Amino acid sequence: MRTGRLLKDTREEVTSLLRDLIRIDTTNPPGNETEAAEYLAETLEKEGFKCEVYESEHGRGSVLTRMRGSGGKPSLLLLSHLDVVAADPKEWSVDPFAGIVKDGFVWGRGALDMKSMTAVEVMVMKLLKRQHIKLKGDVILAATADEERGGEAGLGWLTRNHPRKVQADYVVNEGGGLAVPVHGKNMYTVQTAEKGILWVKIKAIGTPGHGSIPGTADNAIVRMNRVIEKLGSYRSKITLIPTVKEYLLAIAKEDKTLRKTLTKLLREPATADKILDQLAKRDKFLAEEIRVKLRMTVAPTMIHGGVKENIIPSKCEAVFDCRVLPGQRTADALDTLKKLLKEVDLEKLEFEIIQANEPSESPLHTLLYEQIVKVLKNFDPSCSVAPDMMTGGTDSRFLRKKGVVCYGFHPMRGDMPYGEIKKSIHGIDERISVDNLVFGTSVLYDAVKSFMT
Ligand SMILES: [Zn+2]
Repeated sequence: MRTGRLLKDTREEVTSLLRDLIRIDTTNPPGNETEAAEYLAETLEKEGFKCEVYESEHGRGSVLTRMRGSGGKPSLLLLSHLDVVAADPKEWSVDPFAGIVKDGFVWGRGALDMKSMTAVEVMVMKLLKRQHIKLKGDVILAATADEERGGEAGLGWLTRNHPRKVQADYVVNEGGGLAVPVHGKNMYTVQTAEKGILWVKIKAIGTPGHGSIPGTADNAIVRMNRVIEKLGSYRSKITLIPTVKEYLLAIAKEDKTLRKTLTKLLREPATADKILDQLAKRDKFLAEEIRVKLRMTVAPTMIHGGVKENIIPSKCEAVFDCRVLPGQRTADALDTLKKLLKEVDLEKLEFEIIQANEPSESPLHTLLYEQIVKVLKNFDPSCSVAPDMMTGGTDSRFLRKKGVVCYGFHPMRGDMPYGEIKKSIHGIDERISVDNLVFGTSVLYDAVKSFMT
């Protein structure tokens, strides 16, 4: 049967899967993903799948199922997360947890991040089964808890407690796949890398005193001011990782207006800042987006100090959000920060790590990547495909560190302005078109089928 006809019948099915998932409120915290996990288990079991729901703690469920292959390689894990971030109904134009369909879109929290992809992946599993596809290796589905709070109670917990259940050669997860319009053509991204996160609290210590005689005290706020000055203005050295190099090459190829700028940058990466300063005059957002793909960054994000108008404070603390490139380590990043602060008097600074997630990158040229490109070109012949690095993190990092090839790929065409799609993720009026649910299912089904047979 042709895929086109096959998918016509699944249009309603994938839509109602998403609507049902949105209606199960999995706002994290607290998460309560078990209800969604059990819902998926039930719908998959009707199709003949055997499912397992694992709870890391009460209510924090993840669901797993598997379609067996003939024993050969490779195996593929279709990964997604069940939890969502909070949504304030007062800010939305519809109820964020009602799963409403309006104007051809499914509205609600998780419509993009990422219950839509969960629905698409479940639909792909069902289609593989209905079509009696003979797979080489296993195709595994995992819809897990807790991604939005770091994944420790979801995929992190599964990799520690049931490693074989989520073991695979390849993973498809969130993080890429959205078409970016470039001169009327679509450029799809595949997320092949993500930055690491280091959140660190720095405490400046001083000696208290009366605000009227500042010289007798040692003001912790003044010390923190120097810390912020140093770190806030820090520009680390430029490093061009494979993903970013290919990404910039792809844009240079497709976008005539950026070709000269990006070719120069790729030829002389050491001068990138000068080149990007020029670009920023034309397009500030783009320039800064490229700049952070080339280096480790650090930004002060919180500060707290002082108790009273006339007391010189002996303590001041600030939080810094530091992002490191694949190939760098968060521990080295912390050392770099400390080195930068040597002259501020390290003895009077304390460092506390709030969170540290290592960066990760997967190889770019694999059979799965090639298959993804091929299938996209079938659906959208004039399109191009580029690998991309996210500056935030996904659950892929848990598996990449075990050597698994992970790609962020949720295929979507831009039927809403690109900026609006990006804004609605974790924002208000999050929605996905029914057409895009069908498109995502079609592309992913074809990619999985051709890769696994
Ligand atoms: Zn997500």
